[in-house]
Amino acid sequence: MRTKMVAGNWKMNMTLQEGVALATELKDKITNPSCQVVIGTPFIHLATISQLLKGTPIQLAAENCADKEKGAFTGEVSAAMVASTGAQYCILGHSERRAYYNETTDILREKVLLALANGLKPIFCIGEIKEEREANIQNEVVKTQLEESLFNLSEQEFRNITLAYEPVWAIGTGLTATPQQAQEMHAYIRSVIAKKYGQETADDTTILYGGSCNEKNAAELFANPDVDGGLIGGASLVADKFLAIIAAR
Ligand code: PEP
Repeated sequence: MRTKMVAGNWKMNMTLQEGVALATELKDKITNPSCQVVIGTPFIHLATISQLLKGTPIQLAAENCADKEKGAFTGEVSAAMVASTGAQYCILGHSERRAYYNETTDILREKVLLALANGLKPIFCIGEIKEEREANIQNEVVKTQLEESLFNLSEQEFRNITLAYEPVWAIGTGLTATPQQAQEMHAYIRSVIAKKYGQETADDTTILYGGSCNEKNAAELFANPDVDGGLIGGASLVADKFLAIIAAR
């Protein structure tokens, strides 16, 4: 049985104090969740929130890590540094990083390898932009993203990957993929994994949906057999909304 998960992505929101307040509220209210709960926070929150979440069912993710191991890369944060905070996961390949920071599939391949080498579990984002959906080439786009950044991994390494299908046209826009669009893509992604790594690994891979998923549409999206949960941006910043999404899983 694959892991069901709801993961938050705070992006570049929350001061340290605000983040601690939100994490404290989540910690107090999430005692026995029906799925794995992860919160993805800015780097500066990780060490403090990791301590706060000790002994709770909530796990912690960074939103990025460097594509280099260590050294003279001013301002970067390595996978080893992330792991040293106690975080368990690392969100990689988010469309905002691909679009605004020119993260190519080659760079992402390096980041995934470094995350895994340091014991972090990548939550790897894939998804097409609006023009690609309109041209009906979303399947090819997503397959290429998988092949170029992940399919160098051994089957054992790949089993540490959580995928997040995030149609870029749905992120932060209020537009959501229909439950049918999400299910079709998730089933397709699973079939691509099955061809590469076999059916058992495909069946064990957690595939999240992300893109304007909120407390109103989560249950309908999560009801699909291949949608294992959500990667939640905006709605993860408000405790009650995030809790409602977790309850929908
Ligand atoms: C995201 O950034 O991963 C995301 C899904 O954002 P939102 O939920 O705000 O669309």
